[in-house]
Amino acid sequence: MISVEQAQEHILAHIGELDAEPVPLFEAVGRVLAEDIVAEHNIPPFRNSAMDGYAVRAADTDGASPERPILLRVVETVAAGTAPTAPVVPGTAARIMTGAPMPPGADAVVRFEETSEALPAERRPPGGHIAILRPVRPGDNVREAGEDVSVGQTALRRGQRLRAAEVGLLAALGRSRVTCVRRPRVGVLATGDELVGPEEPLTPGKIRNSNEYTNVALVRLAGGLPVPLGIARDNVKDLSAKLKLAVEAGVDLLITSAGVSVGDYDVVKHVLAAQGEVHFWQVAIKPGKPLAFGTLEVGGRPVPLLGLPGNPVAAFVAFEVFARPAIRKMAGLRPLFRRRFRARLQEDVTNSGRRHYMRARVWRDDASGQLHATTRGSGVRVQGSGILSSLVWANGFVIVPEQVTFIPAGEPVDVELFDWPEEVF
Ligand code: AMP
Ligand code: MG
Repeated sequence: MISVEQAQEHILAHIGELDAEPVPLFEAVGRVLAEDIVAEHNIPPFRNSAMDGYAVRAADTDGASPERPILLRVVETVAAGTAPTAPVVPGTAARIMTGAPMPPGADAVVRFEETSEALPAERRPPGGHIAILRPVRPGDNVREAGEDVSVGQTALRRGQRLRAAEVGLLAALGRSRVTCVRRPRVGVLATGDELVGPEEPLTPGKIRNSNEYTNVALVRLAGGLPVPLGIARDNVKDLSAKLKLAVEAGVDLLITSAGVSVGDYDVVKHVLAAQGEVHFWQVAIKPGKPLAFGTLEVGGRPVPLLGLPGNPVAAFVAFEVFARPAIRKMAGLRPLFRRRFRARLQEDVTNSGRRHYMRARVWRDDASGQLHATTRGSGVRVQGSGILSSLVWANGFVIVPEQVTFIPAGEPVDVELFDWPEEVF
């Protein structure tokens, strides 16, 4: 039996970040940058007004007050999107709108509210003049060229995940396409003679293929592009054909479910052994002990393959623990692993020799800020390893280390949450 870490290390050692591709900026949110972004121009590109008001020479406003206003001659109005035509010389001002370029000579902006524009008509100066009611200092209400991002600066770095803010910054820097890490195409195949699709009749002995759907959903949440491959029957011919099709479809990773344990019809083993170099492990994890990993070689093209157990809960846990980090690594996403938190356990738990990923509900007590976790739902057999509804009930795992046999209620335990995105914390 190998440890969870040994299996993870082996898998990740055989997985690399994918190549890059151009992505239109409108589609770039959530993607990972594959290039450094160096600013080719300043943001803002020019010195401009941060307010609607009057561009002035600050020295001209010294001592201004509502009682002793200072009168300036208005040379022009500068709207956003236009260029000033005259300098502001001593004794003059330019009416200016937010975002309009500062005229040469002006070094500050007096807001409308601090000029005679805020006064009743009878208290305003004669046409062509403005009265300043408060002094400004040089730089007041002015945005300097490059004060946000300066030309030549590395504004974003390779490896950064693009959020809405990064997308906006890229647009501000004049980019409508960016180079991102390619999203991994992940083929998802179910195996088993007992499986029928959700729309087929449930004839005797059959169950529905849920794993393919869960896995497709999990691939998407992990940052991959799922390629559903349907069901392969438990025979060498069908399985080989389906795997071949998948590789020809250009998948970057293959995820199968079932057929990796010791049952009579677990043919995945035989096919994989014949078509590539695949290892079958017993991992010290519960649920989900049997796991396959290796490289499938079809038509000279090697594709990594991860064979998850068939049991729906075991498959889910194995996906979380082994497939998700692999997909994130291919996609250039960090961190690879879910963050762990400490939560107070609500009841005693026992364990025997393997790392137990117990389905749990985790919540935070608002008064204390403390996280709590329970592994027991009322009305659900929460820890049965075939109980899919236990995952519906759960929002995370309590992780009991392999060497720990008993944890009493009230003790802190490690939890991982699969509902909450990493970014929240
Ligand atoms: P196996 O690994 O083939 O022995 O399968 C273990 C258990 O998982 C069996 O009870 C299977 O019926 C079940 N199982 C296998 N594949 C699926 C699937 N795609 N959806 C739901 N259950 C499955
Ligand atoms: Mg089977």
